[in-house]
Amino acid sequence: MMSKNMLAAYLISPKNLVLKERPIPRPERNEVLVKIMACGVCPTDIRYFLGYGKHTFYGEESYGLTGHEWSGVVIEVGEDVEKIRINDRVVVDHIASCGACGYCRRNLTHHCINKRYYLRGYAEYGLAYGPTLLKLPEKISFEEACFVEPLSSCINSIERASISMGEVVAIIGDGVIGMLHLQLAKLRGAEVVMIGHHNDRLEISEKIGADYTFNSKEVDIYEEISRLTDNYGVDAVIVATQGTEALESALRIVGKSSRIIVFSGTYPEEKISINPNRIHYSEISIIGASEHNVRQFTTSLKLIEKGLVRVKPLISNIVPLIEIDRAFDIVMNRRGLKTIVRPHQEDE
Ligand SMILES: [Zn+2]
Ligand SMILES: [Zn+2]
Repeated sequence: MMSKNMLAAYLISPKNLVLKERPIPRPERNEVLVKIMACGVCPTDIRYFLGYGKHTFYGEESYGLTGHEWSGVVIEVGEDVEKIRINDRVVVDHIASCGACGYCRRNLTHHCINKRYYLRGYAEYGLAYGPTLLKLPEKISFEEACFVEPLSSCINSIERASISMGEVVAIIGDGVIGMLHLQLAKLRGAEVVMIGHHNDRLEISEKIGADYTFNSKEVDIYEEISRLTDNYGVDAVIVATQGTEALESALRIVGKSSRIIVFSGTYPEEKISINPNRIHYSEISIIGASEHNVRQFTTSLKLIEKGLVRVKPLISNIVPLIEIDRAFDIVMNRRGLKTIVRPHQEDE
């Protein structure tokens, strides 16, 4: 079909980003070729760019980078792919699982021992895994679709946290991930305290449902939470920012028989010391959460479609692919909220 070239981002070595032409890839039997319309910049991409984190492919192998929050229009469909047609608008679930291993059989598809990642979203065209590709409802823009992946991971986190009605939940981190957790915790009927250190972001969090907001650079979080909860502490804390300091704060503000969710990775790696007696006597559960399963990805799209989670207010920058270094710079310097890269400039 196509033999022409496309533009794609490459990482030659950490911090050495270039844009180059390369042939448009061809789909295998269970793959789909997508004209990429939008790719959300995730902190994972920035870690990779800086040489940290779990992805370490550089040079020729790196085309499209770790871009994994992407959406677009189907251009070519592999022969084994069902229900997806040319010109469908789609959002990509970047985790391809085997369906047969011990984890897949427990519906923990994100832990599949044979999983493959469909990344490479920073390019004009990309390959997606047919079986988990979702069609986009007409009313969801390509930019909004970039939130389906991060929101699905937050759904996993909220489910693992077992947030329930009437609980007080503190979220540490006023970035996109904090804002998505906030809306999910509200949907579960919790009262939500947002803790961050950007007043502009905290204001947005109020607009999308935060009951209380605290700037940790301006007030003593421990005192404020004690006052707010009559010294009981909160029922759950979501740690939605990297670094050990946030986890240490979480251990201070959480009450008895409570949960702390560690959502963010920390790079370079650090350690903290925890008093086992605090965990034991106060019955504190420290729970990790990362990525999402197939069901959560589907639920995520539904929540955005029905307007139950609002993502438009979280989009702050839309940058063309040729200026990807500017997009990364914005995210690295924590300016705005969600930055989205657009490989094609024409309208939908
Ligand atoms: Zn991500
Ligand atoms: Zn598997």
